[in-house]
Amino acid sequence: MAASQRLELFAPLSGLLVPIEQVPDPVFAQKMVGDGISIDPTSNVLLSPVAGKITQLHSAKHAVTITTEEGVEILIHIGLDTVMLKGEGFTAKVKEGDVVTAGQALIEFDGDTVSRKARSLLTQMVVTNGDRVGKFLPASGFVRAGQTVVLTLELVGATAAVAAAATSGEAQSEPIRVPNPTGLHARPAAVVANLAKTFTSTIKLVRGDENANAKSVVAIMGLEVQYGDEIRVKAAGPDADAAVKAVAGMIIQGSGEEVGGVISPAAQKHLAKIKRAVAPAKPKSGDPNVLLGVSASPGLAVGQIFQVRQEAIDVAEQGSDAQFERGKLDAALKEAKQQLEALKSGISDASKAEIFAAHQELLEDPDLLDIAINAISSGKSAGFAWKTAFSTYADKLAALKNEILAGRANDIRDVGRRVLRIIAGVKEAELAVPENAILIAEDLTPSDTASLDREKVLGFATVGGGSTSHVAILARSLNIPAICGIDEDALQLANGTAVILDGSKGSLRKNPSEAEVAQIREAQLKLGKQRAEELAAAHQASVTTDGHHIEVVANIGGLDEAKQGVELGGEGVGLLRSEFLYLDRADAPTEEEQTQIYTDIAKALGTERTFVVRTLDVGGDKPLPYLPQPAEENPFLGIRGVRLCLAEPEMFRMQIRSVLRAAPFAKLHIMFPMIATLDELRAAKAIVAEEKAALNVSADVKVGIMVEVPSTAVMSELFAKEADFFSIGTNDLTQYTLAMDRGHPKLAKQADALNPGVLRLIAMTVKGAHAQGKWVGVCGGIASDPQAVPLLIGIGVDELSVSVPAIPAIKAMVRRLSKADCQKLAAEVLQLGTATEVRERLGKAAG
Ligand code: PEP
Ligand code: MG
Repeated sequence: MAASQRLELFAPLSGLLVPIEQVPDPVFAQKMVGDGISIDPTSNVLLSPVAGKITQLHSAKHAVTITTEEGVEILIHIGLDTVMLKGEGFTAKVKEGDVVTAGQALIEFDGDTVSRKARSLLTQMVVTNGDRVGKFLPASGFVRAGQTVVLTLELVGATAAVAAAATSGEAQSEPIRVPNPTGLHARPAAVVANLAKTFTSTIKLVRGDENANAKSVVAIMGLEVQYGDEIRVKAAGPDADAAVKAVAGMIIQGSGEEVGGVISPAAQKHLAKIKRAVAPAKPKSGDPNVLLGVSASPGLAVGQIFQVRQEAIDVAEQGSDAQFERGKLDAALKEAKQQLEALKSGISDASKAEIFAAHQELLEDPDLLDIAINAISSGKSAGFAWKTAFSTYADKLAALKNEILAGRANDIRDVGRRVLRIIAGVKEAELAVPENAILIAEDLTPSDTASLDREKVLGFATVGGGSTSHVAILARSLNIPAICGIDEDALQLANGTAVILDGSKGSLRKNPSEAEVAQIREAQLKLGKQRAEELAAAHQASVTTDGHHIEVVANIGGLDEAKQGVELGGEGVGLLRSEFLYLDRADAPTEEEQTQIYTDIAKALGTERTFVVRTLDVGGDKPLPYLPQPAEENPFLGIRGVRLCLAEPEMFRMQIRSVLRAAPFAKLHIMFPMIATLDELRAAKAIVAEEKAALNVSADVKVGIMVEVPSTAVMSELFAKEADFFSIGTNDLTQYTLAMDRGHPKLAKQADALNPGVLRLIAMTVKGAHAQGKWVGVCGGIASDPQAVPLLIGIGVDELSVSVPAIPAIKAMVRRLSKADCQKLAAEVLQLGTATEVRERLGKAAG
């Protein structure tokens, strides 16, 4: 009802109304806590301005929050800086959880004591969840407690909220089994918290008798939710129903991660690790010269020890004025956010830059801020309050058994120390690192790792952390050999000690013999030389010794990789996994956004390079968050790939139009994934033709298919009559040929694309395509496998679409091969019976 959308608040005290903007405290005047009014009181018993429930009563009894039936939260704060009185002069008449009526006494205070000891008696009444309010209509002048209406609120979405509140105001989900293979670690926790923050209600994740604030990443991580755990989402407030529905839905769908019963081998490895991680014993070596840890980033480094010690940052415990300290904290948080922005922009790999984006989010985490702000309110300095907040959470996470979550303690300390340095005015100490340094540290932070001087630092080992820590991820992306969880004895090694760090094996060898060092240096030199040669020749054509050009192109997920592919000599893009542009979002991209991204990538490639856009390959194992589909018994055999696109023609057409607009800027190819029948190909082609005509695109846009389903390989000659090209997706073709889930950890070894059954289907595909004069590429993982390359060339594959870093090496390899020899090899290999035999034969051929 329209009338119930107004909420009238009575004066909590008698006195003169003062506009909130005039309160001499920026926290209130700038409405940081919320909008409302202030009263210069003449009475001393605080009355409830409305009926509601006491949802918070500060321990110092100077502030109280009442939540109304509509879910509006009203905070009344008696005086300024009265928290310092620690309750002196205040008597609470109610307790948290009490239901009160309008006009009921809440707190009595001794006007004399309070006005003598506090800065001011001005009492503020503000709405802390202002998004529920469309308009604030304050009164003015002298008011009488419990009698004058001092503030009228026009509520937004009130009808629904009131209805929800009338039915319950509280909601909870059915139990949910968490589908994420590694539980709710930092990334899914951030996805859940960000969604939760869009609701007014308080939202909790509940497991048994434990719970966590769903709006706080650190609180969710602290709950240590693991794969298969049963949790519920509970909410209380005006939009409780909607909140529970949305948050529970998000968790069921994997909170932004690929789930759906499909657990990748990598995730399974993590899982196994987590299960094993109960009090993990540090590896000890029998050799006194060898210290062991776990591999964090592969590679060998020979150098000298340099110990890195973290400087202590001292802060005074007691603060001055709470308002001043709060301002200091806010300014430091803002500055830290800017620093992280700068750090992010220095990392080219977007997924790694996300680590620092997550740090930025920690700066806004409500639970962290709550602890800090409460500590400031109780008289602590900004530095002390912040240190307490982040250390409390970091210690809590570090103590968890889950290795991944425990690893995130380091992230909290990293971002925590960043803010603390700003508050304390301490500059980050410059490390005077010597040449050829192997750093040893208790722990390095992601920030330390990202800013390592690569000219001097050859590798590092940390006592803390694990292979899944952000430090390890960064080390891999920066290509620095690294070990985590090294034996603590490493901290005792003197600076300058000669060592060999083997990042692949996770070992640190001290006092190596000269012969050992020489051997490693030689191997490194050889490998480095080969890499340098491959890189130098990366832009030469990939033509075999007998003159056959094999196009080497890139598999990419977005613009950055397109650019890197060109830099590394890629002759184009053989597979844009376009779903990567759609998966990480809560809402559908607009047609303009889509057009922009395809056009940007096309421009990065230019009109001389091939650009194969695979249309959306989602559904089944890769759900689209903004297009929920019913759960399927067998997602890999369900509505995925082109089937989903044909079932959602509007979405498909929008993508096709966006892709077609990129036609003038590159050699555009459109490719449909998961084609199993000619009917699907015809239907999808018809849509492309219609949209092309409607847009008046005159360019010659090729239309091809992925060969990932055995039926298509077997029927390749017929498909080749209607498709312009084929690209064999050996990852899926292998799983559908062998009936082995590509993500099944126990089948990982057997589900080998070099199985002769798969190889014969590849050969059939090539034969059928060539009979119709069409080209065939391979974009599955084996195209990047040096062992498989001669075989694929021998079978007659025309194009290899490989991971971006592999481009120079694969091109160099093609240039070393003769197609005639490869054909002989292929003829022989296709007669073999098992994948093991195939690998043995290929190993022999490689010498
Ligand atoms: C494949 O299946 O081989 C392929 C390249 O597609 P994706 O790995 O994206 O399923
Ligand atoms: Mg595939």
